[in-house]
Amino acid sequence: MLNVIIFGAPGSGKGTQSEKLIEEYGLDHISTGEVLREEIKNNTELGKIAAQYIEKGQLIPDNLIIDILSTILDTKENSKGVIFDGFPRTISQAHALKKMLNERNEQINAVIALEVEDTELIERLLNRGKVSGRSDDNLETIQKRLQVYHSQTAPLIEYYKEENLYNAIEGSGSIDEIFARIKTVIKNL
Ligand code: AMP
Repeated sequence: MLNVIIFGAPGSGKGTQSEKLIEEYGLDHISTGEVLREEIKNNTELGKIAAQYIEKGQLIPDNLIIDILSTILDTKENSKGVIFDGFPRTISQAHALKKMLNERNEQINAVIALEVEDTELIERLLNRGKVSGRSDDNLETIQKRLQVYHSQTAPLIEYYKEENLYNAIEGSGSIDEIFARIKTVIKNL
């Protein structure tokens, strides 16, 4: 299996580049944000809990998201590989992912990190907010999400560098230019 983490701040293009990866390599895609938004839409108990965190730009608790991820992973046994989009977002989620994959005789093959300046991220997310209908694409929540990214998620950069999995990608430019950079990394795996 080719298991890839698409990593980056909110608005860095993880969802967009995931679509290109699915098309090119036939990979499965797990976006924890999408899973949670679906739960909210269906008004499930989990959705009700998740909505409270998402609206404030906070992360939902690790134990909750790790359980969700584990359940989804069980359905991907015969997959060519999985793109992890929006997970892990904390060091403890990264540890849990490693353990879950080990237990399934799998591993992460690469972390593809889309690097984009905060000013560009804010501009992109505000533009997305005009059409996305997402409760968290407004200036106040965007700023909170970026703070959460820098304090809780960015420590994963060092973690994955130490694991020799980290690949930095210049995340500005056209969608196709960025995807070409990603393909170069995947070809060299
Ligand atoms: P995303 O669509 O990846 O930007 O995620 C939207 C929101 O869902 C985040 O701001 C968090 O509130 C929540 N969320 C998504 N993935 C995770 C995760 N791995 N851990 C905690 N919260 C998450």
